[in-house]
Amino acid sequence: MRLVDNFIAGEYRAPASGRRFDKRSPLDNRVIASVAEAGRGEIDAAVGAARAALAGEWGVLTTEQRVDLLHGVANEITRRFEDFVAAEMADTGQPGHVMRHVFIPRGAANFKVFADVVKNVASESFRMATPDGQGALNYAIRVPKGVIGVICPWNAPFMLMTWKVGPALACGNTVVVKPSEESPQTAALLGEVMNAVGVPKGVYNVVHGFGPDSAGEFLTQHPGVDAITFTGETRTGTAIMKAASEGMRDVSFELGGKNAAIVFADCDFDAAVGTIFRSAFLNTGQVCLGTERVYVERPIFERFVQALKARAEAVKYGRPEDHDADYGPLISQAHRQKVLSYYRKAVEEGATVVTGGGVPEMPEALADGAWVQPTIWTGLADDAAVVREEIFGPCCHIRPFDAEDEVVGLANDTVYGLSTTIWTTSLARAHRVAARVEVGITWVNSWFLRDLRTPFGGSKQSGIGREGGVHSLEFYTETRNICVKL
Ligand code: NAD
Repeated sequence: MRLVDNFIAGEYRAPASGRRFDKRSPLDNRVIASVAEAGRGEIDAAVGAARAALAGEWGVLTTEQRVDLLHGVANEITRRFEDFVAAEMADTGQPGHVMRHVFIPRGAANFKVFADVVKNVASESFRMATPDGQGALNYAIRVPKGVIGVICPWNAPFMLMTWKVGPALACGNTVVVKPSEESPQTAALLGEVMNAVGVPKGVYNVVHGFGPDSAGEFLTQHPGVDAITFTGETRTGTAIMKAASEGMRDVSFELGGKNAAIVFADCDFDAAVGTIFRSAFLNTGQVCLGTERVYVERPIFERFVQALKARAEAVKYGRPEDHDADYGPLISQAHRQKVLSYYRKAVEEGATVVTGGGVPEMPEALADGAWVQPTIWTGLADDAAVVREEIFGPCCHIRPFDAEDEVVGLANDTVYGLSTTIWTTSLARAHRVAARVEVGITWVNSWFLRDLRTPFGGSKQSGIGREGGVHSLEFYTETRNICVKL
């Protein structure tokens, strides 16, 4: 069993209180790590270290020096690639090929991309007239915001954490990261990378623990934190926003979703089925951008339902290192209880269960894992809880539609607004519908294609602010205008 400690001022430290908690494997519920739980004292120390680092060597590096260090971090992650893959597989139980091809490489890219953005960004300047005819010159400079509190979820832990830490450090801030209690290992491992590369002590700190009355709450309430970036549930965002209001700290939120896929009858059918299968079931449905509502134009509705059913029934359950396996467990027993409660509720609400709806038969060694079947429903009312609430599991409801206006109305009939995927071969219709769906990210004839320079975030209750490329600078820097009378 692994010991996972807090990482403060460049050192791994056991908690002063001696309090630790167990991290269990999603595969079989075995305890795989004993994790230090940070109390208020550790949070104080981590925030203090981050503040001291701002005033030290880190604070006087040139942009080029910082950029070089962050490229070094990316290269060191690549050198330790298999260690990160192993840690993430252990925490999440997800297939190794997803770690190797998406989540871990993206973690390294998050340092390179934002280092390059910061290196190449220009600042704005306005020359203005003055009564004496001499004029004045305004120019803006960007300075780091300070100590950033980074609160992360468990569903793609390393990729989502570095998506925040990369730009925060590129902009010259320091960070205190609170990974999810379900996925502490890759954030901890990144501390070794920071030390190996020579990132000054205190720039990157990690504190472990839970949310309420634990490390998450202590960190977001800490007056030494200048801004908070959070990815997680909308309800948690509400609590964090309250904490951030004390001291008027800025927030950047990437929250929940109930994302719709819109499939017109003129689509490339096989491509639509294949991609929507991924969007609903990749990572066992635990993807914020994933699809839980599918709207299919009536002429192809039945055929689509049958084709998606066939794909869902062909998933291969297994351990991350099984080359054949493409489907893992949910993150935890607690999350499985939540997902299964929606499986039951769907039946109570009158759904037709097209496939799944329960727990699969697993071999004895995996019988205690957090496994659930990929599940498809039809026949639910538009106001059913299962159609309206985020489940965050491997499931979707498919409903037929007849007209473009109707489906836009259905897609928008939600408090969320994160992403959508639209399937049609009509270019005009793709543009028309894309502009009307109230979300932050729309994919046409695709899903999860991510260019890290583009704005990423949610509308409505799916988020506040946009991150990605230069958009990240809006949150991670403070802009100062300097006006010089000529
Ligand atoms: P969560 O909100 O339960 O927890 C996220 C983090 O917040 C954890 O580290 C947790 O310990 C911490 N936390 C919980 N309560 C807190 C509090 N009161 N104060 C401070 N910290 C607190 O979310 P989760 O279950 O880890 O992740 C799943 C959710 O994340 C889903 O809703 C999903 O849609 C969302 N998500 C969104 C995006 C996006 O980009 N929009 C990406 C991934 C996941």
